[in-house]
Amino acid sequence: MSATFKTLDELDLKNKRVLLRADLNVPVADGKVTDATRIERLVPTIREIVKHDGKAILLSHFGRPKGKVDPQFSLEQVCEAVANETGHPVGFVATDWTDVSGAQAAIESAPPGSVLVLENTRFHPGEEANNPELAQRMASLGDVYVNDAFSAAHRAHASTEALAHLLPAAAGLAMQAELEALESGLGKPKKPVIAIVGGAKVSSKIDLLENLVTKVDGLVIGGGMANTFLHAQGYSVGKSLAEKDLAETALRIMDKAVDSGCAIILPIDAVVAWHFKADTPTRLYGVDAIDNDGMILDIGPSSIERITGAIDDAHTVVWNGPMGAFEMNPFDAGTVALAKHVARRTHEGKLVSVAGGGDTVAALAHAGVKDAFTYVSTAGGAFLEWMEGKPLPGVEALKK
Ligand code: AMP
Repeated sequence: MSATFKTLDELDLKNKRVLLRADLNVPVADGKVTDATRIERLVPTIREIVKHDGKAILLSHFGRPKGKVDPQFSLEQVCEAVANETGHPVGFVATDWTDVSGAQAAIESAPPGSVLVLENTRFHPGEEANNPELAQRMASLGDVYVNDAFSAAHRAHASTEALAHLLPAAAGLAMQAELEALESGLGKPKKPVIAIVGGAKVSSKIDLLENLVTKVDGLVIGGGMANTFLHAQGYSVGKSLAEKDLAETALRIMDKAVDSGCAIILPIDAVVAWHFKADTPTRLYGVDAIDNDGMILDIGPSSIERITGAIDDAHTVVWNGPMGAFEMNPFDAGTVALAKHVARRTHEGKLVSVAGGGDTVAALAHAGVKDAFTYVSTAGGAFLEWMEGKPLPGVEALKK
């Protein structure tokens, strides 16, 4: 049960055809799934459906076939991985989504408790157009609809949005866990809340920063994007990555933070190198004395100390983006130190920690603490849009 959206336990699954919107858009090489994390997360919902003698009928997009049937994007190739993860035989149901009568018959003849995977929803242009007729055809294949694909919820597509209005609909267990974790991060968080935002550029995260300063008590800005803020404040950042044309945007965000009572925490020292590569000589500088030929590639130890202090004062941390060029030694040090600190405070029960976004998951995994946060979202775009405060169409459609 949830106050805002319907959950699986509120649907009657007994002997029902359950259309389960999954995210089967998993990495595949030579016809084999190379990372089954997204499939793993579907297992509890599939088991629940099977337990009630429902038919779990998975529908998902896969790659970018651009609205045409294209065998290289067939979902048939992920069926084996779904079978392996669920420990249940899996049937594949082909369709071009123009005529679904064959799919209807296949689903009809499958026994109760079957697990089936329907063909790629993006084989029809109506999927990305949120086309009502396509949604109707999808709806004709099920009795109820369950969405367990948070990572696709920022898109209003036929299988994520229109379809949810045509059948009794609920969030699956993975979607529910994700929404509850996010709610504890920014929805109704335990205050004080600090956000840690890093990554390469301000330009890709303007909406995110603008929203966060109105919601959180402190905003830590690190990574390449901090250089733009330092430049805007009159510091010289040498040859560092910086979007100097966004200086005014940076100042506007800082003004908005002051108006909202949000403290902005910028680096006070930096690890500088003269070449953008691993294991190159480095030196530590205060941000007021960056070498003209140098590049800021990580936050320095005084910054780490300042930020860990802020983390100690907080009850909730939301995190997106690395503090430095973490893929290269030694520029991972700032990100790793902060990630370990957040993990420690979380472990001690002092902090709720929510992180997400592609590079962030990789950085936390690199620091060895991916499973030590309260919640790590593997959804890229959907997580960012959630952090930007935007309504997610696939979630809105599940609301009571
Ligand atoms: P994003 O996808 O925006 O989260 O950016 C992540 C990328 O930002 C990573 O590939 C990092 O290597 C890069 N990055 C972080 N800090 C810096 C920096 N100071 N200079 C250059 N690149 C950076």
